[in-house]
Amino acid sequence: MKAAVYEGKERVVVREVPEPSLEDGEILLAIDACCVCGTDLRTYRHGDKKIIPPRILGHEFCARVVEMRAKPEDAGVKVGDRVGMYIVILHGNDRYIEGGRANLSSHRTTMSYHHDGAFAPLMRVPAEAVRQRSLFRVTGEMSSREMSIAEPLGCCMNAHSRLRVGMKDTVAVIGAGPIGVMHGLLARLQGAQRVILLDNNPARAQMAKQFGFDAVLVSRPDGSHRAEVAAMTDGEGPDVVIVAVSSATAQAEALEMAAKGGRINFFAGLPKSSPTAQLDVNQIHYKELEISGSYSEKKSDFQAAFALLQSGRFPADQIVTHTLPLSQITKAFELMESGEALKVCIDPNL
Ligand SMILES: [Zn+2]
Repeated sequence: MKAAVYEGKERVVVREVPEPSLEDGEILLAIDACCVCGTDLRTYRHGDKKIIPPRILGHEFCARVVEMRAKPEDAGVKVGDRVGMYIVILHGNDRYIEGGRANLSSHRTTMSYHHDGAFAPLMRVPAEAVRQRSLFRVTGEMSSREMSIAEPLGCCMNAHSRLRVGMKDTVAVIGAGPIGVMHGLLARLQGAQRVILLDNNPARAQMAKQFGFDAVLVSRPDGSHRAEVAAMTDGEGPDVVIVAVSSATAQAEALEMAAKGGRINFFAGLPKSSPTAQLDVNQIHYKELEISGSYSEKKSDFQAAFALLQSGRFPADQIVTHTLPLSQITKAFELMESGEALKVCIDPNL
């Protein structure tokens, strides 16, 4: 079969690889759709210590079960089912797994990092994942393309579990890429009074306007966008600020922008080569800010995202803006970088 294989920095090659063969307890999936994650792009551009090439990338997928060497009653799915997958696999136990925060466990592996992913027509599901019932059946009519954003949407839900957005809140999201847009939409679903998105790329800001947020602002180096945010909040600033862009400047700006008592989430990490930011920590002290991070997702987040997509109450069709064949994987990366696309979906059957 033809797969997109990561062979090292700046090298993702579409080439012939052997079809996966199953061991006991494993399941074979035929991939319908796999969206490109920001981390796929980052791995392509900068490499990732956790990913040892050659490795098939791609972990935001929806697929069909084509072969099983596990019992349907153990796996919770059967041949022919359309499925999504919680991509974190647990090995053993520790305090984080026991405490319901498996995303923080060091006893975990992840599809497309430690096991071949879904930029291919076929993907093998490891036996541990099958045993942990990590496959979830699509029961409705929602397209595979739309269902494939369950993974990143679950990551956003993980952040929201600490942000507690409610009807009195103005929420600002810095970064209007697919993740920023999903955060904004989740805030709205939770009843936020006002949702403001900001991005320094005018193309991205323009695209985010179709979702009907209260404001989408282009952030400028002169900081004039901050005055606009202040004007919209009686000078107080937003109650919740989500940083959905890998930028130390944006992190510093979030602290300055937030209202007193505000909640801030650093959703995106900084590059491993420069992980420090210059922050005015007096903003935290005097304004009693609450700052949280978020990494990956728990199974309950994935399940909630999966259910939300199945309900049809989330505009997934507007988020996936492009569908390309496997052969155009590098074009998919470029479309994301330029801000021309929100989510780009790869269909290995095209
Ligand atoms: Zn992802």
